[in-house]
Amino acid sequence: MLIPTPPPFPTALLALGDFAFIDVETTGMKPLTDRVTEIAVIRFSAHREPERWQSLINPGVAIPAEIQALTGITNAMVRNAPSFFEVRGELRRLLEGAVFVAHNARFDYGFIKNEFRRQGEAFTADVLCTVRLSRKLYPDADGHGLDAVISRHRLSGFDRHRAMGDTEATTAFVCHAQHDHSPDTLHAAVKSLLKTPSLPANLAINALADIPDSPGVYLFYGINDLPLYIGKAKHLRERIRAHFSNDHMTPNDIRLSQEMRRIEWLPTAGEFSALLLEAQMVKERMPLHNVKLRRREKVGFFQLLETEGNALLQWLSAANLPDAHTDIFGPFSDKASAKKWLMLAAREHQLCDHLLGFSKPRATNEPCFARQVGRCFGACDGSETVAAHSDRLREAIAANALPAWPFTGPAVYEEFDPANDRADALEFDQWCAMSGGTRLPFDVDVYRLLRRTMGKTASRFRAISD
Ligand SMILES: [Zn+2]
Repeated sequence: MLIPTPPPFPTALLALGDFAFIDVETTGMKPLTDRVTEIAVIRFSAHREPERWQSLINPGVAIPAEIQALTGITNAMVRNAPSFFEVRGELRRLLEGAVFVAHNARFDYGFIKNEFRRQGEAFTADVLCTVRLSRKLYPDADGHGLDAVISRHRLSGFDRHRAMGDTEATTAFVCHAQHDHSPDTLHAAVKSLLKTPSLPANLAINALADIPDSPGVYLFYGINDLPLYIGKAKHLRERIRAHFSNDHMTPNDIRLSQEMRRIEWLPTAGEFSALLLEAQMVKERMPLHNVKLRRREKVGFFQLLETEGNALLQWLSAANLPDAHTDIFGPFSDKASAKKWLMLAAREHQLCDHLLGFSKPRATNEPCFARQVGRCFGACDGSETVAAHSDRLREAIAANALPAWPFTGPAVYEEFDPANDRADALEFDQWCAMSGGTRLPFDVDVYRLLRRTMGKTASRFRAISD
């Protein structure tokens, strides 16, 4: 078959770095369980000739008949081919430091990442999907699949459904896009899809390269060993880079970016473990820029206390939350917002200002202000009994009661991250995290995550006493 000569690669793009176009053929559609049978790479660099590499791969499993028919890659063809283990060094050299480019890149990236993972090695790269590039450059086109792209640009001569053929077709698409778009447009389109972060000035040039695509906690450091900022993420790589991508920089990010010298990260098995680790580390290390922490310190509850038949709500900071959670309402982000909530409930249910403690009577049976304007049933001037008022107060605020802990004693939540083969078992009691058998102080983020997760996947929690 005639292999078409690729047109020159757009110089405007090489200003963004090297580009490694890749395509894989596989035994099926699932990156976690199916295997790679062929890989092709074409790498473009600013000052070198394009480099081409391809290899059949022995997947170690049989290729299903329908896949053999689609790709033309048979069991016989891969029998004497090298395994992924044998080509991994060469492949890593070809992909290292380059943008990983593929048509429907999630597929190819997922397979390559998992093949490396099976060898106990991590692989991460900046990924450019040419389906998304096609959508961006040709928003009105009918389709963006490889066949549609080939026919739209009148490209031909590719050995379709083989790795090198599809890699060449993808490359040809990007090269031909130069005919329709200026270098600036092409550069801007690729840059926006890559969300290239502007690296903080004092950070090593490759500081963002090895961040894993895993949940976890990250720490930003300045000139000494005190962290400037500690954060958690469901996807470390994406989250950390988002701090420095121009579209999302907050004033805090800009300050951080000027001060930071070094990044550290600690992968976890999931969101829960990341959140707990973050909460602990923030308390221990006291980073300068964790504004959210200061807000969390004001979180608290109302506790309903009865004295002589009168129910009174008393403010309770989260740190002072008692073990038994009865007659506790909230959590509220701070005392002022708790009071505002109570005033609204009082107005709606025509409760008494004096009995709620909003005002003090100067004489016995003096009507409260709400009574004077007809918004109080009159517990203040004796028109309503204190007991009846208390009952109505309980009713008015019932919806905000802190729910009873649904287990007898502590419960465990198991987290597992199959992509990184990491597991964690987390213990909770009375809406609080536990560490080494001891209950940690109430943390509103842990509480919210517990409520949310129990609502969706209650079955993943299991009482320890069972
Ligand atoms: Zn009143």
